[in-house]
Amino acid sequence: MLLKIVQVGDPVLRNGTRPLTREETRSTEIQQLIEWMRETMRDAPGVGLAAPQVGLPLRLAVIEDGGEAPAIERRPVPFHVIVNPSLTPGDGEVTHFEGCLSLEGFQARVPRARSVTVTALDHRGDTVSIRASGWYARILQHEVDHLDGKLYIDRMDPRTFATTRNLARLAPPVPEETEG
Ligand code: ZN
Repeated sequence: MLLKIVQVGDPVLRNGTRPLTREETRSTEIQQLIEWMRETMRDAPGVGLAAPQVGLPLRLAVIEDGGEAPAIERRPVPFHVIVNPSLTPGDGEVTHFEGCLSLEGFQARVPRARSVTVTALDHRGDTVSIRASGWYARILQHEVDHLDGKLYIDRMDPRTFATTRNLARLAPPVPEETEG
Protein backbone atom coordinates (compact mmCIF):
# COMPACT_ATOMS: atom_id res chain seq x y z
CA MET A 1 0.00 0.00 0.00
CA LEU A 2 1.27 3.45 -0.87
CA LEU A 3 1.07 5.96 1.98
CA LYS A 4 0.46 9.67 1.54
CA ILE A 5 3.65 11.70 1.96
CA VAL A 6 3.07 14.73 4.18
CA GLN A 7 4.29 18.11 2.85
CA VAL A 8 6.03 20.93 4.74
CA GLY A 9 3.64 22.95 6.89
CA ASP A 10 2.05 19.88 8.47
CA PRO A 11 2.84 20.01 12.21
CA VAL A 12 3.66 16.27 12.30
CA LEU A 13 6.96 17.12 10.56
CA ARG A 14 7.87 19.52 13.38
CA ASN A 15 6.52 18.03 16.59
CA GLY A 16 9.06 15.27 17.21
CA THR A 17 8.53 11.54 17.69
CA ARG A 18 8.19 8.95 20.43
CA PRO A 19 10.48 5.91 20.70
CA LEU A 20 9.22 2.36 20.10
CA THR A 21 9.84 -0.54 22.47
CA ARG A 22 11.51 -3.69 21.12
CA GLU A 23 8.15 -5.48 21.44
CA GLU A 24 6.33 -2.77 19.48
CA THR A 25 9.02 -2.89 16.80
CA ARG A 26 8.40 -6.64 16.37
CA SER A 27 4.59 -6.21 16.34
CA THR A 28 2.49 -7.03 13.29
CA GLU A 29 1.40 -3.39 13.07
CA ILE A 30 4.93 -1.99 12.89
CA GLN A 31 6.11 -4.76 10.54
CA GLN A 32 3.21 -3.84 8.25
CA LEU A 33 4.07 -0.13 8.52
CA ILE A 34 7.70 -0.90 7.57
CA GLU A 35 6.52 -2.78 4.47
CA TRP A 36 4.24 0.09 3.43
CA MET A 37 7.00 2.66 4.04
CA ARG A 38 9.35 0.59 1.88
CA GLU A 39 6.82 0.55 -0.97
CA THR A 40 6.12 4.28 -0.56
CA MET A 41 9.84 5.18 -0.56
CA ARG A 42 10.50 3.10 -3.68
CA ASP A 43 7.50 4.57 -5.48
CA ALA A 44 8.42 8.20 -4.67
CA PRO A 45 11.30 7.47 -5.44
CA GLY A 46 13.47 8.31 -2.45
CA VAL A 47 16.47 6.98 -0.55
CA GLY A 48 14.92 7.36 2.89
CA LEU A 49 11.54 7.90 4.52
CA ALA A 50 10.81 8.77 8.15
CA ALA A 51 7.54 7.94 9.93
CA PRO A 52 6.53 11.63 10.38
CA GLN A 53 6.59 11.92 6.58
CA VAL A 54 3.67 9.49 6.46
CA GLY A 55 1.92 11.31 9.32
CA LEU A 56 3.10 9.15 12.24
CA PRO A 57 5.04 10.64 15.19
CA LEU A 58 7.17 7.49 15.68
CA ARG A 59 10.96 7.24 15.94
CA LEU A 60 11.36 5.00 12.89
CA ALA A 61 12.77 5.48 9.39
CA VAL A 62 13.55 3.28 6.39
CA ILE A 63 16.58 3.70 4.11
CA GLU A 64 17.63 2.21 0.77
CA ASP A 65 19.91 3.68 -1.86
CA GLY A 66 20.57 1.92 -5.15
CA GLY A 67 22.61 4.81 -6.54
CA GLU A 68 26.32 5.09 -7.15
CA ALA A 69 28.26 8.33 -7.63
CA PRO A 70 31.95 8.34 -6.62
CA ALA A 71 32.12 12.17 -6.75
CA ILE A 72 29.81 12.42 -3.75
CA GLU A 73 30.94 9.16 -2.11
CA ARG A 74 27.61 7.55 -2.93
CA ARG A 75 27.51 3.77 -2.84
CA PRO A 76 24.54 1.35 -2.79
CA VAL A 77 22.96 0.85 0.63
CA PRO A 78 20.64 -2.14 1.08
CA PHE A 79 17.15 -1.68 2.53
CA HIS A 80 17.14 -1.35 6.30
CA VAL A 81 15.20 0.15 9.16
CA ILE A 82 16.38 2.38 11.99
CA VAL A 83 14.29 2.61 15.18
CA ASN A 84 15.12 4.99 18.07
CA PRO A 85 18.38 6.10 16.41
CA SER A 86 20.95 8.16 18.23
CA LEU A 87 23.51 9.84 15.98
CA THR A 88 27.05 11.02 16.69
CA PRO A 89 28.70 13.11 13.95
CA GLY A 90 32.34 12.43 13.05
CA ASP A 91 34.99 14.90 11.91
CA GLY A 92 34.79 16.82 8.68
CA GLU A 93 31.96 18.52 6.86
CA VAL A 94 30.72 18.30 3.26
CA THR A 95 28.15 20.43 1.45
CA HIS A 96 25.95 19.10 -1.36
CA PHE A 97 22.53 19.73 -2.84
CA GLU A 98 19.87 17.79 -0.99
CA GLY A 99 16.14 17.33 -1.47
CA CYS A 100 13.25 16.02 0.62
CA LEU A 101 10.06 14.17 -0.34
CA SER A 102 8.21 16.52 2.05
CA LEU A 103 9.48 19.61 0.18
CA GLU A 104 8.51 18.50 -3.27
CA GLY A 105 10.31 20.16 -6.15
CA PHE A 106 13.04 21.99 -4.23
CA GLN A 107 16.69 21.47 -3.33
CA ALA A 108 19.40 23.39 -1.51
CA ARG A 109 23.00 23.00 -0.50
CA VAL A 110 23.23 21.58 3.02
CA PRO A 111 26.40 21.12 5.08
CA ARG A 112 26.57 17.73 6.82
CA ALA A 113 29.11 15.72 8.78
CA ARG A 114 31.14 13.53 6.41
CA SER A 115 30.83 10.52 8.70
CA VAL A 116 28.52 9.43 11.50
CA THR A 117 27.95 6.67 14.00
CA VAL A 118 24.34 5.67 14.62
CA THR A 119 23.07 3.34 17.33
CA ALA A 120 19.54 2.07 16.73
CA LEU A 121 17.24 -0.93 16.77
CA ASP A 122 16.80 -2.82 13.51
CA HIS A 123 13.50 -4.22 12.15
CA ARG A 124 13.80 -7.16 14.57
CA GLY A 125 14.21 -4.87 17.57
CA ASP A 126 17.89 -5.80 17.94
CA THR A 127 20.49 -3.15 18.76
CA VAL A 128 22.78 -2.25 15.87
CA SER A 129 25.66 0.17 15.48
CA ILE A 130 26.16 1.74 12.06
CA ARG A 131 29.30 3.56 10.90
CA ALA A 132 28.70 5.47 7.71
CA SER A 133 30.46 8.01 5.54
CA GLY A 134 29.73 9.96 2.38
CA TRP A 135 26.21 10.02 0.97
CA TYR A 136 24.94 7.31 3.35
CA ALA A 137 26.04 9.46 6.30
CA ARG A 138 24.05 12.33 4.75
CA ILE A 139 20.93 10.15 4.42
CA LEU A 140 21.21 9.07 8.05
CA GLN A 141 21.54 12.69 9.23
CA HIS A 142 18.55 13.72 7.07
CA GLU A 143 16.33 10.92 8.47
CA VAL A 144 17.36 11.37 12.12
CA ASP A 145 16.63 15.09 11.67
CA HIS A 146 13.08 14.17 10.57
CA LEU A 147 12.64 12.18 13.79
CA ASP A 148 13.73 15.27 15.75
CA GLY A 149 11.26 17.52 13.89
CA LYS A 150 13.97 19.14 11.74
CA LEU A 151 14.06 19.69 7.97
CA TYR A 152 17.00 20.42 5.68
CA ILE A 153 15.75 23.99 5.27
CA ASP A 154 16.78 24.55 8.92
CA ARG A 155 20.41 23.79 7.97
CA MET A 156 20.67 24.86 4.32
CA ASP A 157 22.58 27.73 2.80
CA PRO A 158 19.37 29.73 2.07
CA ARG A 159 20.84 31.49 -0.97
CA THR A 160 21.15 28.13 -2.76
CA PHE A 161 17.46 27.18 -2.27
CA ALA A 162 16.08 26.43 -5.75
CA THR A 163 13.50 24.44 -7.64
CA THR A 164 14.79 21.13 -8.93
CA ARG A 165 13.69 22.27 -12.38
CA ASN A 166 15.82 25.42 -12.25
CA LEU A 167 18.79 23.45 -10.96
CA ALA A 168 18.52 21.08 -13.90
CA ARG A 169 18.31 24.01 -16.32
CA LEU A 170 20.76 26.49 -14.85
CA ALA A 171 23.18 24.89 -12.42
CA PRO A 172 25.98 22.36 -12.68
CA PRO A 173 24.81 18.74 -12.57
CA VAL A 174 23.42 17.70 -9.19
CA PRO A 175 22.91 14.23 -7.77
CA GLU A 176 19.63 12.67 -8.83
CA GLU A 177 17.06 10.79 -6.80
CA THR A 178 18.53 11.89 -3.55
CA GLU A 179 15.39 12.75 -1.67
CA GLY A 180 14.63 11.33 1.72
ZN1 ZN B 1 13.19 14.40 4.01
